[in-house]
Amino acid sequence: MKRIAIIGGGILGATLAHLLSLSDVEVTLYEKTQLFHEASSKAAGIITFQLYLDHDYKLTSASLSYYRRLREKGYELYRKVNGVSLFDKAKDGEHCIRVMTSRLENWGIPYKRYEGRSLEERLPGIYDPGTLVGLETWRDYVLDTGTLAQALREQFQERGVSLLEYEPVLSIKEHNGIVEVESENNGVEKYDYTIITSGPWGVRVAGLQGKVFIYSCQAQTIKTNPPDPDASIYDYTDEIYIVPESRNSIIIGDGCRPLNQPEEGLNPDQNITLGVIEALTTRFPNMEHGELASVWSSPCEVAMDGIPYTGPVIGQKIIFIAGGLDGYGIMRAPGVANILVDHLIHGEPIPWIYSTEKLYQYPKPTRIVINELYNPGCGHINTCVF
Ligand SMILES: Cc1cc2nc3c(=O)[nH]c(=O)nc-3n(C[C@H](O)[C@H](O)[C@H](O)COP(=O)(O)OP(=O)(O)OC[C@H]3O[C@@H](n4cnc5c(N)ncnc54)[C@H](O)[C@@H]3O)c2cc1C
Repeated sequence: MKRIAIIGGGILGATLAHLLSLSDVEVTLYEKTQLFHEASSKAAGIITFQLYLDHDYKLTSASLSYYRRLREKGYELYRKVNGVSLFDKAKDGEHCIRVMTSRLENWGIPYKRYEGRSLEERLPGIYDPGTLVGLETWRDYVLDTGTLAQALREQFQERGVSLLEYEPVLSIKEHNGIVEVESENNGVEKYDYTIITSGPWGVRVAGLQGKVFIYSCQAQTIKTNPPDPDASIYDYTDEIYIVPESRNSIIIGDGCRPLNQPEEGLNPDQNITLGVIEALTTRFPNMEHGELASVWSSPCEVAMDGIPYTGPVIGQKIIFIAGGLDGYGIMRAPGVANILVDHLIHGEPIPWIYSTEKLYQYPKPTRIVINELYNPGCGHINTCVF
């Protein structure tokens, strides 16, 4: 039986370990601390078809069907919400709306358009200088990463996955067609394949510095009544998103800054919090009485085209890497894991747009505007300008 080691117990490594374990292979998952410790535990949990990620439709659909299968096993993983996107018509919003509505139509997702009074009725308390337009769909979800981690632990036991927590990997070497993985307490173990899914740390070991960007992604919880407890709101004008956490609290993002070291990403930036709260209270003036309850951040990484990558580390045959989930790992991870399973178990080629090879075609950039790459001319939540 083939032995496969996965390094990194975030959402990508963990869903990959589960999906691989459904085939006839022996899977070991190494995690530096605990399952879902870093970015994967910090996510707001949004899964949406409302973002400008045309190429992502398949990944997101695959992830959703994975979560549905787990839910059928009895785990209350996610709840359904409505996605409301806000655009400013005066700032090229009409173009953005055309792009988004044509995508929603291609994907067969029904939507409703609001402006003026109908928007105020839909989102009471909103400040609209008369130029806002809203689009609503009924295909959004908020996933609870704590429940997912618990579900995966149980699935690992059922499928015989060895989960090694507090077991940081120190080195990975290919030697005579076998991978040697050295970890802190376990010494050196031999595997047929190793897959690095350790978030921004993987970039260092795979020599991808300069090919992907590492940034800090931040969110905050505010105790206040959401304008609609069943709606996720993406405000493309003020670059914030609002997720109803419960009836009297919301998670609000965005805010990101480039990092030199992944570790720096674990310290939230107070200026970002202030900026995000200002944007929130400008758009929803009645939220200024809310109370800031918590702030957190984590490092994320993104390739220049914003599309995840996976495949062998360049120059290697049996050491693989997967990453570049950006601020969308909850939406994308099981979809990316599927691509790897199809490749490793069923021998299918990795589509070029998701391959590691594409990374080496980019010149080393000195400046990148991610939102331009995602969708020329439109704003983008989680926008990073480097
Ligand atoms: C504030 C915030 C909000 C977000 N909101 C959303 C959202 O609403 N929707 C969405 O889709 N996405 C969201 N994201 C993005 C999402 O969280 C990430 O894309 C996703 O979690 C990345 O998963 P990962 O498994 O690739 O990496 P990680 O979760 O970073 O996992 C990597 C793991 O590798 C481990 N590791 C590192 N080094 C080693 C080593 N040497 N040995 C062993 N293990 C190691 C780490 O401990 C870590 O657990 C958000 C992110 C943040 C920070």
